[in-house]
Amino acid sequence: MVDSQEKYNLTTEKIQCGHCPTKLPMRIICQGTESVPYTWLFDNDPVHGEIYNTDCDDYTWEVLKCLSCSKVNVLQRFSSGEWEAFEERIDFLYPSPDPHKDKPLELRIMNDVIEQLITDVEDSIHKNKPINGVDRIHTSLHTYLKEACANENIPYPENDNIHKLFKLLLKRHPKLQNTVDQPYVSNFLNSVANMTSQLDPIRNYTSLAHGNKNLLENDEALFYIDVVRLVIRYLHKKLMS
Ligand SMILES: [Zn+2]
Repeated sequence: MVDSQEKYNLTTEKIQCGHCPTKLPMRIICQGTESVPYTWLFDNDPVHGEIYNTDCDDYTWEVLKCLSCSKVNVLQRFSSGEWEAFEERIDFLYPSPDPHKDKPLELRIMNDVIEQLITDVEDSIHKNKPINGVDRIHTSLHTYLKEACANENIPYPENDNIHKLFKLLLKRHPKLQNTVDQPYVSNFLNSVANMTSQLDPIRNYTSLAHGNKNLLENDEALFYIDVVRLVIRYLHKKLMS
């Protein structure tokens, strides 16, 4: 493979890499096209009977290289020559028929801000710089809790921190009440809620949020991210049920 980067064109649209969380234009390594003819019923009139037309479906195969992880993706674009209304369709041939299905956080929250934050977190893990994701995952949970309260019309002071919002949600959100009523589960959830009181100081004094000098080590940064995303995942599952 020639590695002269300038020689390659980029795709016009952003493509979700099947190997990593990046969604960017990809470098086109090679392309191939094929037209596959097919026959279709054009008209059926009393004089001439059935009239058939022949048309072609156009396929384009592209071998693309992700600009972030440098791995190869192969996709097939399908477009019909005749029917302009036919939307171009993209199928992934490699590495996965659905590159979105293995989204690492398994979170698909209908909120663009949180989605973008989570994409940034995944990117930080992929690049082995989890410290870059600590502030982001913190903001993800904070935003998520506010939205969860707002969706249920649970009033909260705008400057409430994660700990207070989490406690409020446990106390007031209807979908959590049955769970909270179980004594052992309740104790467990309250312990987790208490643990979240430490999320702010860690984020404020050991992450990149405020230009701190004493940063978390990689293992602790990843642990922080994992714990927070487990909390988001749990809450999301409960609230969406
Ligand atoms: Zn990639």
